[in-house]
Amino acid sequence: MIYYSLKNSNETASFSKAVIKGIAPDRGLYFPQEIPQLEKEFIDSLPTLPLHEMATEVMLPFVEKEMSRADLYTIIQKTFDFDFPIVPITEQIGSFELFHGPTLAFKDVGARFMAQCLGYFNQKEKQQKTTVLVATSGDTGGAVANGFLGVDGIDVVILYPKGKVSPVQEKQLTTLGQNITALEVNGVFDDCQTMVKTAFLDQDITKYRQLTSANSINVARWLPQMLYYFIAYQTHRKNSDQPLVCAVPSGNFGNICAGMMGQQMGLPIDHFIACTNVNDVVPRYLSNQVYAPKPTVPTISNAMDVGDPSNFVRIQKIYGNDFSRLQQHLTGYRFTDEETCDAMQKIFDETSGYIADPHGAIGYLGLKAYLENRPEKKGIFLETAHPIKFPETVEKTLGQKIPIPSRLQDLMQREKKSISIKDYTDLKDFLLR
Ligand SMILES: *Cc1c(COP(=O)(O)O)cnc(C)c1O
Repeated sequence: MIYYSLKNSNETASFSKAVIKGIAPDRGLYFPQEIPQLEKEFIDSLPTLPLHEMATEVMLPFVEKEMSRADLYTIIQKTFDFDFPIVPITEQIGSFELFHGPTLAFKDVGARFMAQCLGYFNQKEKQQKTTVLVATSGDTGGAVANGFLGVDGIDVVILYPKGKVSPVQEKQLTTLGQNITALEVNGVFDDCQTMVKTAFLDQDITKYRQLTSANSINVARWLPQMLYYFIAYQTHRKNSDQPLVCAVPSGNFGNICAGMMGQQMGLPIDHFIACTNVNDVVPRYLSNQVYAPKPTVPTISNAMDVGDPSNFVRIQKIYGNDFSRLQQHLTGYRFTDEETCDAMQKIFDETSGYIADPHGAIGYLGLKAYLENRPEKKGIFLETAHPIKFPETVEKTLGQKIPIPSRLQDLMQREKKSISIKDYTDLKDFLLR
């Protein structure tokens, strides 16, 4: 597959180059030159296909010529080694739980797939050792660090603001060891981010080390998320012939955009619902056709506090920049924090105590709004995080303690190891050591 920059179609890259670079030199997002089409036979066979075989078949055209089917299969096996259950909430609605990965975040899949791909290309081309340098305000860093843990030829250096991440998040960053180093910065997230950006431009460092960012717009983080929708369809089809609607809590719109790609390849998803908090630039666009980015407003579903979603250009491209085609496939809804808390309560009361996190609760609200006059359809909302990651909001809303999953109990026992740094000179010394 050849990828091109959405800023200039002459700016092209192979899959490996797109993965290593992350973003095109003109700062455009990479997009595949064609959308592969799946055979009808393949679609019909989905309910009985084993997950790893299905996933290899779907992803192969995107990596072809640079990775054999067998090598892709191995990467898929290492990426998808946990469960993706759909838990019934009502007759019509299911919660599609994407949080059973190592850091309880749906971003685990993208981070692991990208880490495996980078490790693979690194080994094949016998490059110098690569250092992944990231700043994190909490969640993404954990998923990235975990994804890269033990990957040959890659060191990971994570900067995080001292005292500004939750206890669980800090443990996820600082207890891994091996090729992962956590630098605890005496400052805020923006200080971490600025230092990372400075390092990428510092030739003393880049002469000595190959630096890479594990950016969320990387094609190797974006594309494998489409497999969620194939998994959902497989599970759904085993029990039902009704059309399947997918509601996706969205921030940068990478996850939903991957699903739309799957649909354009031939996966029978009936409709997509983009669910946001009050950072609602896309729902507003869908109602008035005006794309008006706004400064970010903080909410309780903070992984979706995005004022100008980076993947929006990819969504437009998928539908050939045709607004009415986009509208046929996508409906948007936005909800306030108050509505989000009410939804968490309602879900809890109407099931026997199902606990949704604030992001999943927004997905539920969007799905419910859309299905209201459509009894012939069924839907799932993507539950993108385990509620334990947002304990304060959830416990305050429900008046309930959330049981700590056993995996986290182990984690909380482990010893924190980090190196304190105070400024850029410290970071530079560390990277040049
Ligand atoms: C990142 C994230 C989202 C938003 O996903 P996008 O692909 O950026 O739209 C939603 N929920 C949670 C919990 C997340 O971490």
